[in-house]
Amino acid sequence: MVTHDIAVIPGDGIGKEVVPVSLDLLNVLADIHGGITFQFTEFPWGCDYYLAHGEMLPKDGINELKQHEQIFLGAVGDQNLVPDHISLWGLLIKIRRECQQVINLRPVKYIEGVSSPLANPNDFDFMVVRENSEGEYSEIGGTMHSGPDEITIQNAVFTRKAVERTIRFACTLAEERNQKVTSATKSNGIVYSMPFWDKIFAEVGEDYPKLEKQSQHIDALSAFLVTKPSSFDVIVGSNLFGDILTDIGAAIMGSIGIAPAANINLEGKYPSMFEPVHGSAPDIVGKGIANPIGQIWSAKMMLDHIGYPELATLLFNAMASTITSGIKTPDLGGNQTTEEVVDEINKRLLADS
Ligand code: ATP
Ligand code: MG
Repeated sequence: MVTHDIAVIPGDGIGKEVVPVSLDLLNVLADIHGGITFQFTEFPWGCDYYLAHGEMLPKDGINELKQHEQIFLGAVGDQNLVPDHISLWGLLIKIRRECQQVINLRPVKYIEGVSSPLANPNDFDFMVVRENSEGEYSEIGGTMHSGPDEITIQNAVFTRKAVERTIRFACTLAEERNQKVTSATKSNGIVYSMPFWDKIFAEVGEDYPKLEKQSQHIDALSAFLVTKPSSFDVIVGSNLFGDILTDIGAAIMGSIGIAPAANINLEGKYPSMFEPVHGSAPDIVGKGIANPIGQIWSAKMMLDHIGYPELATLLFNAMASTITSGIKTPDLGGNQTTEEVVDEINKRLLADS
C-alpha cells in the first residue's frame, strides 16, 4: 500500500465547502485503485487565523508544509476580513515562493454543458504554462523626480535558467499531448527580454524536433484564443503574458467556478500546490451552492502529477459527464447544490470503475 501524504489548506469562504467534498472523492478513487491511500493533514490557515493570530500562518508553517508530498488548497482571502495584499502575500505567494513553485499550469478545456461566451466553442483543449517566479512581476524599479518630470521605471527580470526550464516543461508536455507548442512573445515591441525569450525558445525547441513550434505576439495570440481556441495544444508564456492568457482561458471556459490550476515545483524537492482559480466567493458562502468543479479538477491535476493518470481520467470523465447531463450549480445555469453535484460524480465514479 502506497500512502500519499497531502497537506490540505481549505482556506477561506467556499474553500471550506469545496475542499472536503474533493477529499471524499479522492478517497473513493484510492479505494477504486486498491493500492493507495491518502493521508490528509489539514491546516486551518487563512483570514480567520489572521484575525486570531495577526498572521496568515504560523512562523514555522512553511516548514511544516515542506514535510508533505503535495499541497491541496481551497481559496485564500476575504476582503471583508483582511486586505487582499495581506492575505495574498501572507499565504499564497509565500507558499509559491518558498516551495519554489516556478511553473503555473492551467488547463483550458471546453466541457459540453457549460455555456461558453464563444458562439462556436468547438472543443478547445489546451494547456497554458506560465513562468511563475520572475519576469515582469519584479520588485526592481523606482520613481525619480516629482511633478511634471516624474518618472517611474519597472524592471522585468528574465534569467536563462527560468526561461529555459519553463519552455522545456512546455515542450515536454506538448510531447505527451498533441505535439504542438506556441510561445507568447512581443519581440516587435519589447526589445530585450522578448528576443531573449525567443532565442531560448528556438534553442530548447531543437531538442524537440518532432514538435510543431510557433511564436505569436501576445496581442494576436490573445485574439486567437477567442477566434480559434481549438488550434492550440500547449501555450508557454512569461509571468505577465501567462497571467493574461489564463484569464482569457478561464473566461472562454464559461465560469470561474470550474477552472483549476497547479503550481509546480520541478525537482520535487518541495511540494507542488493544486488550487482552483476562483477565490473565496464571500457572496455565496453558506448557501451550499458553490461550484465544486474547479476544486475537483485541481484534485484531478494532482492525481496526474503524482502518477495516476487513469484515476485522473476517471475523475475527469465523471465530473464532465455530470455537467453535461445537466447536473450543475447555479453559476453554470443549473439549480443543483454542491452536494448534489458531488453525489452524482461519486455515483458515476463507482459506475465507471
Ligand atoms: P479573490 O480576491 O479571492 O480572487 P474575488 O471576489 O475576486 O476573490 P472570486 O471569489 O473568485 O473572486 O469570485 C468572483 C465571483 O464569482 C464570486 O462572487 C461568486 O459569485 C462567483 N464564484 C467564484 N467561484 C465560484 C464557485 N466555485 N461557485 C460559484 N460561484 C463562484
Ligand atoms: Mg479576484
